[in-house]
Amino acid sequence: MMTIDNYNFAGKKAIVRVDFNVPLDENGTISDDTRIRGALPTLKKILADGGALIIMSHMGKPKGKPAAKYSLSQIVDAVSVALGVKVQFADDCAKAKAQADALKSGEVLMLENLRFYAEEEGKPVGIEKEDPQYEEAKKAMKASQKEFAKTLASYADCYVNDAFGTAHRKHASTAVIADYFDVDNKMLGYLMEKEVQAVDNILSNIRRPFTAIMGGSKVSTKIGIIENLMNKVDNLILCGGMTYTFAKAQGGKIGNSICEDDKLELALDIIRQAKEKGVNLVLGVDSVCADKFANDANLKVCESNDIPEGWEGMDAGPKSRELFRNAISGAQTILWNGPAGVFEFDNFTAGSKAIAEAIAEATDKGAYSLIGGGDSVACINKFGMSDRVSYISTGGGALLEAIEGKVLPGVAAIKGE
Ligand code: AMP
Repeated sequence: MMTIDNYNFAGKKAIVRVDFNVPLDENGTISDDTRIRGALPTLKKILADGGALIIMSHMGKPKGKPAAKYSLSQIVDAVSVALGVKVQFADDCAKAKAQADALKSGEVLMLENLRFYAEEEGKPVGIEKEDPQYEEAKKAMKASQKEFAKTLASYADCYVNDAFGTAHRKHASTAVIADYFDVDNKMLGYLMEKEVQAVDNILSNIRRPFTAIMGGSKVSTKIGIIENLMNKVDNLILCGGMTYTFAKAQGGKIGNSICEDDKLELALDIIRQAKEKGVNLVLGVDSVCADKFANDANLKVCESNDIPEGWEGMDAGPKSRELFRNAISGAQTILWNGPAGVFEFDNFTAGSKAIAEAIAEATDKGAYSLIGGGDSVACINKFGMSDRVSYISTGGGALLEAIEGKVLPGVAAIKGE
């Protein structure tokens, strides 16, 4: 597989898929430019080599039609400043051949939002799955998706994918386009390389003991990951709202706590699997409970399996926090996804904070720690500990699918799998 470090872009045109799906405020100003900064090492390497750069991305969900509020023209100036080069703009991504052909070494062209074309995502529009014509429409759309990808590919000599956030999607610009470049002219960008390496560190290249912490509201959305991790970890902490599905499944009283009643059997099965596989499953034993779902609620600490009616578990209690700390402190590999409580309310951050602190301390002592998924990243930022962990993933869905053990189409297309 070609790597970006081994490629000399001098005299070449490179088309680069980035994730510039940045949040904009009501005036169209970028409110968080993390994603732009994340792609800069790749973009700058291409320019420094003497290449010409064609940047492509999606923004928002325009559903296959142009919409001014999703126009990438809004970020051209910010990208120009970040790169230190005046960025040209192609206001129709599928009709940019002449502009691409005219690009000279060191110049940059940004294409309009790829998702202004339904071909980018490749899903038929205006027809329901139940419609008898759906399969036909899907086939036709797949054919036009290939044509769209081929058009994008025709702009450049080589293709770089640096959009980890969409790597789990088989879209024209993230996967299909790679078919139009030979193996020596397509590669992952630096951000993608880092993300792929981070996943590898926790799925293949594991230093033991390995502790995974899964939190958040539901078991159902995390079950694929929990089952995959069960074959890899030494300690598995399940916390947050999931706690009460487990407590109820084991006969506990959980008051008004969040619970998935149709997942009680699944919870018991996870407990059984952990025993069979010798995994130390850590569930919270006590909770900070509230008499309403609000920051100014009355509080009391209860056993997690004995919560009175009218009260709900909102955060890990002091005994649970100690159990979590113990399972994290000796670990050499740590993965954290999902908060241990309703951390958005300041009175229910203690569980997530205890986890973040234990991870930071273990990392100081040499552990490898990966934090991923929007809410855990928000937690680590809220507690000001983002520089005390090994890696914070930029990918939500893509990271979770990779941890589930699924092959990411964006990565597979480069590797030629
Ligand atoms: P998820 O999207 O499944 O990762 O869940 C994240 C959400 O879980 C956050 O918004 C938290 O507020 C929420 N959460 C964590 N613990 C609890 C709890 N005990 N009760 C209700 N929601 C919770």
